[in-house]
Amino acid sequence: MKRTEKASKLRDECGSSLNIDEANIQPFDVRVSPDVSFMTDMHCHLSNSEVIGLLGGDYDEVEKCLYIQAAFPCKSTARSDSGFTDVEMDSVSQLSVNEAIRRQGMKVVGWYHSHPKFQPDPSVTDIDNQNLYQNLYGREVPFVGLIVGTYDGTSDLYLFFHIFSRL
Ligand SMILES: [Zn+2]
Repeated sequence: MKRTEKASKLRDECGSSLNIDEANIQPFDVRVSPDVSFMTDMHCHLSNSEVIGLLGGDYDEVEKCLYIQAAFPCKSTARSDSGFTDVEMDSVSQLSVNEAIRRQGMKVVGWYHSHPKFQPDPSVTDIDNQNLYQNLYGREVPFVGLIVGTYDGTSDLYLFFHIFSRL
């Protein structure tokens, strides 16, 4: 379905009183390989502290679809807190994982981290980091953030997010 058709369908479903136009619908689709779920699930359950990594994949401009093909664990920076909040990516690890992703013919299309103790909603720090990463990686392809909530104990919760400016 084309973007204009999506906007029209949303307008029909939600009523004409809502101001729904192309600017208000999701700018691209996201498709995720089962390999990503497998790797992030395993990585995020290895520690009671937050863990972090990068996502590799590619973007289809015609389909307007971001394909996330693989997850790559990264080291986090040393921390002085209890280790449960605001994980940061080690810059040396980030560079080497960037290279590993590119060597496999993929682009860096996102980052992930875990929330082992609370809901997978982005914190202010997460949004700041997403903004930084989007400016760094998001010039060529869309760049998304993924938060894996592992606190439940029965099933993981996955939340993808992306920031865009209305300016
Ligand atoms: Zn977070």
